[in-house]
Amino acid sequence: MSSSVITPYSRKNPFPAHLLAQRRLTSEGSMKDTRHYEISIAGSGLNYEVGDSLGVFPQNDPVLVEEILQRLGFCGEESVADPSGERQSIRDALLRYYAITEPSKQLLSALAQQDRAAAPLAQLSAPEAYEHLEKYLWGREVIDPLLEYPHVYFTPEEFIKLLRKLQPRLYSIASSPRVYPQEIHLTVATVAYQSLGRQRFGVCSNFLAHRLTEEQSVSIFIHSAKHFRLPEDPTRSIIMVGPGTGIAPFRAFLQERKATGALGKQWLFFGEQHAKTDFLYREELETWHREGTLHRFDTAFSRDQEEKIYVQHRMLQQAQELYAWLEEGAYFYVCGDAAHMAKDVEHALVQVIERAGGHTEQQALEYVATMKKEKRYRKDVY
Ligand code: NAP
Repeated sequence: MSSSVITPYSRKNPFPAHLLAQRRLTSEGSMKDTRHYEISIAGSGLNYEVGDSLGVFPQNDPVLVEEILQRLGFCGEESVADPSGERQSIRDALLRYYAITEPSKQLLSALAQQDRAAAPLAQLSAPEAYEHLEKYLWGREVIDPLLEYPHVYFTPEEFIKLLRKLQPRLYSIASSPRVYPQEIHLTVATVAYQSLGRQRFGVCSNFLAHRLTEEQSVSIFIHSAKHFRLPEDPTRSIIMVGPGTGIAPFRAFLQERKATGALGKQWLFFGEQHAKTDFLYREELETWHREGTLHRFDTAFSRDQEEKIYVQHRMLQQAQELYAWLEEGAYFYVCGDAAHMAKDVEHALVQVIERAGGHTEQQALEYVATMKKEKRYRKDVY
């Protein structure tokens, strides 16, 4: 799809889009709340390609905003400058323009200056204190140090200057523009966890799940991902490893390859905790498998049995076939968790090549390095 059509919308000038629909993909009894979203881009002139991400500007949790206002003794109507210099009420500035989850170093230093008890916070800003800073910040939001040092006060303007700008979140697009030219679909896990005795909520995932209404607009932009495209040659086969929300771009790939009638084959490895409650897009995926859009489909439900089974275990079980696909020139794609999964999947890929190809570890590593060089190994990890 061409991206040459001129649209006035970009990260700097996001499109005010509307949510068309959302539904839960995980069911009753799941430990997750992963949702499917459909956002209208009608009238925007925006173009996207499969593999791209959507940038979403969230709004903060109003409950958290009110708690901060109350702690600092503000009524909320005090006028402050937003990051672009426009005047806003401090309530709106905190809702829409400033990050109120992770505290900035500036905030910690300012607390240390005003309250002797907070003096140790000043040292956390030094580059060599990086690990201490990480440890301190873990599970803490702006409200936490404010409550820990209750005698510190700022003026509204002083306080705003101690906050970072609220950043947009990027989500891999889960639809193909050939099938949904006027819509963008997302697959988002709603983040909620406990820390330091409080319930915490991921900013953007909870904004989408609980605060964005169909009447209200959400500011969006397309984030192009040139490194994560389908093969230029449609006869090439693709292997996709996408556990959890990592399934998103592969739903888009499958829609696209079906719509274009690409001659290459498709193989998907999907993993989640339980088949009964967490099998995201089960019906669609099984239909594509039945009708032959998905030539091979392997699932790994990690918690349906005593020992963990992950996508990489399924790859190893099918080493011969997987290696044969690679030898025929298949592209290998990974999407999802960067911290552990993507590394473990790469390790498994090396083992597949070693075992099925009869290579030494060194040769298998070189094989993977060549795949990367040829851009046949593509990652979208977060
Ligand atoms: P997810 O937590 O990535 O889980 C999907 C499936 O992957 C589950 O069956 C999970 O099993 C399994 N899994 C866990 N570790 C794995 C590994 N090393 N190799 C292969 N599979 C593994 O799914 P998600 O809902 O997309 O995650 C939501 C959010 O949490 C994402 O933003 C993700 O980046 C983030 N996340 C962060 C971390 C982290 O350590 N920073 C870890 C996971 C997810 P089990 O749950 O049974 O182990």
